[in-house]
Amino acid sequence: MKKRFDQIIVGGGVIGCSIAYQLAKRGYQVLVLERNQIGCEASSAAAGMLGAQGEFLENSSLFQFAQESRALFKDLSIELLEETGIDIQYIHKGIMKFAFQQQQHHKLTAIAAFQQEVGNPAYMLSIEEAREMEASLTEHVSAVLYLPNDGQVCAPNLTKAFSLAASHHGAVFHEREKVIELIMGEGMIHGVRTTEAAYYAGQVIIATGAFGDELLPDYATLPVKGECLSLEVEPDLFQTTLWMDGCYLVPKQGGKVIVGASSIPGETDKHVSVASVHRLLSRAQEIVPKLAEAKINGFWAGIRPATADEKPYMGEVPGVLGLYVAKGHYRNGILLSPRTGIYMADLIENKPVHAYYYESFKVNRHGSNKLAKAGEPK
Ligand SMILES: Cc1cc2nc3c(=O)[nH]c(=O)nc-3n(C[C@H](O)[C@H](O)[C@H](O)COP(=O)(O)OP(=O)(O)OC[C@H]3O[C@@H](n4cnc5c(N)ncnc54)[C@H](O)[C@@H]3O)c2cc1C
Repeated sequence: MKKRFDQIIVGGGVIGCSIAYQLAKRGYQVLVLERNQIGCEASSAAAGMLGAQGEFLENSSLFQFAQESRALFKDLSIELLEETGIDIQYIHKGIMKFAFQQQQHHKLTAIAAFQQEVGNPAYMLSIEEAREMEASLTEHVSAVLYLPNDGQVCAPNLTKAFSLAASHHGAVFHEREKVIELIMGEGMIHGVRTTEAAYYAGQVIIATGAFGDELLPDYATLPVKGECLSLEVEPDLFQTTLWMDGCYLVPKQGGKVIVGASSIPGETDKHVSVASVHRLLSRAQEIVPKLAEAKINGFWAGIRPATADEKPYMGEVPGVLGLYVAKGHYRNGILLSPRTGIYMADLIENKPVHAYYYESFKVNRHGSNKLAKAGEPK
């Protein structure tokens, strides 16, 4: 069995697989080690929204990065379909955000103002205008913000497509092989030890999402559990992604709707509670009353990897040449994955990257023990 590679990626979620795809395309020999199955954690639990505008009230590195990543999806969906035959189901039908109270109304107006200021389409609609677009919406909202450029994909398909495309370019994937130790010495990384064997590479990338913190405790993330449901509805009940405080509805192919998601910091179990299901379904019916007639297809939970400032860690570990981290993509890992793959491959190849991104995302931006210093994310 081959033991030496150019790069080893620890973790086969959407982030690890996107990086593997970029590096393999650039001609490197890449090994991805996944302790369970490719895409088995947050990357398959995600609703797949590409919400690059709806939560941003001011310019930031994350906002810019999210914009750039969203812009990659159209071509990426064609590229991955050609390379793998997998359709990531890229849908570009916009997101509507709803306010039920005055305070939320003000927030939506502020988001719209900022988005227009930076040249993005963002429209405050009357409920009549919103209902002209989506007839199944309730009449009882106070404001609607429409962001036509946001979209969505099928998250499990995206991770599968990245991994299959990477393997077509020569990347090697080992599933059910957990990395238990990093092999380091003399200020550099040499490889990793797994439950089965040792593998060697000049560069190792830790892409373990909300897990694997024992490998590099200084760059731990805070787990934030999210619970979702899948509903079966009449075809074309609505086509736009609908989003309000505490709940979103993402219409998928074949009359399916994903209802998400709870947000429970510190929990890593994947049980789905009656209370969360009850709250999500009540919110969902508030916005689309006809959902009372929907069938429940399933429910699940996943664990988001959060950081104190809600920005991912993407960079080299100081003092260990060749050791990189790409984790902490929190609620936006699907959206950020294409740009992350390119950014990390550029860093690893020592290509120039934007200084703004470099400083914002570097892993030691808070010193050590970041979560304790900067407080908990929402
Ligand atoms: C309910 C929910 C809804 C979401 N909705 C959206 C959305 O609509 N849009 C969006 O952009 N994002 C969304 N997200 C966020 C997104 O899913 C995550 O940010 C993203 O999946 C993180 O990807 P990752 O590869 O870093 O982590 P993961 O998908 O968790 O992958 C990490 C992998 O590393 C493996 N691993 C860990 N330790 C080891 C080890 N020691 N050895 C080998 N392998 C190891 C794990 O088994 C896992 O497969 C959502 C998340 C949740 C939970």
